[in-house]
Amino acid sequence: MDAQTSLLDRLFDAGLLIDTGVEGLYGRSGQFEDVIAAFERYIDTFGGADGAEAIRFPPGMNRAYFEKSGYMKSFPQLAGTVHSFCGCELDHVSLLKSMDDGTDWTGEQKATNIVLTPAACYPLYPTIAKRGNLPAKGGLYDLQSYCFRHEPSTDPARQQLFRMREYVCMGTEQHVTDFRQTWMDRGVKMMAGLDLPVEIDVANDPFFGRAGKMLANNQRDQNLKFELLIPITSVSKPTACMSFNYHQDAFGTKWGLNLEDGAVAHTACVGFGLERIALALFHHHGLDVKQWPEKVRKALWG
Ligand code: AMP
Ligand code: ZN
Repeated sequence: MDAQTSLLDRLFDAGLLIDTGVEGLYGRSGQFEDVIAAFERYIDTFGGADGAEAIRFPPGMNRAYFEKSGYMKSFPQLAGTVHSFCGCELDHVSLLKSMDDGTDWTGEQKATNIVLTPAACYPLYPTIAKRGNLPAKGGLYDLQSYCFRHEPSTDPARQQLFRMREYVCMGTEQHVTDFRQTWMDRGVKMMAGLDLPVEIDVANDPFFGRAGKMLANNQRDQNLKFELLIPITSVSKPTACMSFNYHQDAFGTKWGLNLEDGAVAHTACVGFGLERIALALFHHHGLDVKQWPEKVRKALWG
């Protein structure tokens, strides 16, 4: 059995994650949730004084915003769309018959105006653009959302529905790159405070297809994205638990995000993979939180 399946089985056995019959779709125990809640409070102790505006979106977003975001150009394989039955009574009869027959009953399902959120910050940009120019000090937002990515796996750190906490910064190039550097430093400090080993590396996102290779090269060559990696199921391939993204003025241009003087805003976002961080804690300190090192318990629960 590989390390991923073995960790997943141990998490099921301990009741921390709950099997739903679908890879990457799990229930979480109260204990697991308590670790995430404690870690989110821990984030607040580092970022709370920055004065970010907290906004919470549901895990589905406006399909028109999703289309405009360009996600389907880069990651069509990961996207999830919400479909519903929109037929008449006759269609309903044939739907039920298909279900009885065990044949495909989803053909009559039509796309709704909702798409599953692929990253917590996606609904933010059009929302802020609608408000008009940014204030003189720029914009800083605190987000958290369940996100969907179609990447079924037996690695418990690769889920299909998972939570991302994000800070998003909008402003001048200097302002947002400083923000990103601040969080890279904080991320390292935060994990050291939890006795988790980390390394920071440039990221390699799974851009789709041949055109995607160019996007991946561009991302790497321009240092647009860094990740904070922690070993969870593999030491040689540690897991990205935080990401630090600089979008240059791409989102500013796309969404019409402008500074107070009308110049196009630059943006950056920093994401915490909350399930991954909880899993890193369970992997390194054991499945029984009462046995975790005192220092770690104190950092999380005071
Ligand atoms: P990304 O937008 O890919 O940088 O994702 C932001 C953060 O979400 C990553 O640093 C991970 O910690 C987390 N994440 C991404 N994909 C998954 C997944 N499939 N399962 C769990 N966490 C994930
Ligand atoms: Zn983001």
